[in-house]
Amino acid sequence: MIYYPLMRKGSRLYKGRCIAAACALALHFSASGGEAPFTVDRNIPAGNIELEKIDGDTVYVHQELRDTEGSWFYWAFRVKGAGGRTVEFRFTRTVAVGTRGPCVSLDRGRTWNYSAEQGATRKSFVYAFPADAEEVWFCQTIPYLQADWDAFLARHEADRGKAFETGVLCRSRKGRDVERAVFGDLSGSPKHRIFLSARRHCGETMASYVLEGVLEGVLAEDETGAWFRRSVEVMVVPFMDKDGCEDGDQGKNRRPHDHNRDYADFIYPESRGIRDWIAQRAGNRLDIFFDFHCPWLYGDFNEFAYQVHEKSTAEKTSRFGRMLEALQSGSMAYREKDDIRWGVGWNTERNYAAGRPVKAWALETLKCGFVGSFEIPFATANGKVVTRESCREFGRDIARAFRKWMEADGRD
Ligand SMILES: [Zn+2]
Repeated sequence: MIYYPLMRKGSRLYKGRCIAAACALALHFSASGGEAPFTVDRNIPAGNIELEKIDGDTVYVHQELRDTEGSWFYWAFRVKGAGGRTVEFRFTRTVAVGTRGPCVSLDRGRTWNYSAEQGATRKSFVYAFPADAEEVWFCQTIPYLQADWDAFLARHEADRGKAFETGVLCRSRKGRDVERAVFGDLSGSPKHRIFLSARRHCGETMASYVLEGVLEGVLAEDETGAWFRRSVEVMVVPFMDKDGCEDGDQGKNRRPHDHNRDYADFIYPESRGIRDWIAQRAGNRLDIFFDFHCPWLYGDFNEFAYQVHEKSTAEKTSRFGRMLEALQSGSMAYREKDDIRWGVGWNTERNYAAGRPVKAWALETLKCGFVGSFEIPFATANGKVVTRESCREFGRDIARAFRKWMEADGRD
């Protein structure tokens, strides 16, 4: 359970305007020129919305692309004062609503549900506000911010210094601390070493819940957890685009290139940070390098969890996928046959024109037993509902598969 304060300290500036002021201007004038009976604004953590107009009980909005090339679909906003009304929300530009409609929170981000699923389309949804709902938050996905990471660590505070330690990787472009952490064997001379990261595309929040699940597996009071804490150092960077995660950017296809395509130029401090950290701490030697993502919203390769094959490592990826499929216990319904092979769909040379991705860098630079990545769907996984808990369960399954992989690798 996480409580998000209504406003963070200080006022954030975006395009030179205070967000609160910008929204106040927008929300007081409805299409008819009168004052709208309820308000729509982006004054929530990682808020992102452009309000066009409120026309009766229909709200016209679109997601802010900011520095995104082309279109993308992340948005997050709140509505105040609409209790008892049934309101339709229309996204006026590109596809922005997922397979189960918006994520809805009646308690300022503590809990989220898909209660506006019925009747939702790719560009609209209708929500019947409970009579006593003073404030309702809507988001394209279930958010995951620094506050969530801090809450995760707080739940495991008793293990601090024993099974995990935290630090600062670097300072972000906007001056935020970028977290790094080490889980498992903290001796500095582990038998195995893993590097895990997420949010090179900051909008891909469900990936973070899977990452949490992997780390829960490392901390678990079971045999696998004990094995990790005895044998494996897990290096983690949870927010590879820290500013984008906190500010509610799209992150994908950011200009001039996004955080996943930075591994020729290294223009982002986070990219330089992991390059240097892995060199210094691990001597560029890892058993596993793994990165977590989320895909698009609809259709094949967007409504199931899958690994992304590389040209040179298909056999390893398939082998790991089969291990994971065989032992999974959660409801993500992962199937190795769903993995995207090299040359299929978007997974071709053409996709790499925008800059060297981190996995290509890892394959070329590190002495690493297995370089992999997972795409975690936002809302639907082979027909199953994707939730925070199903993502964490999947992460715990991945931890068990990592163990099996390292043991089978013969270096235990
Ligand atoms: Zn991604």
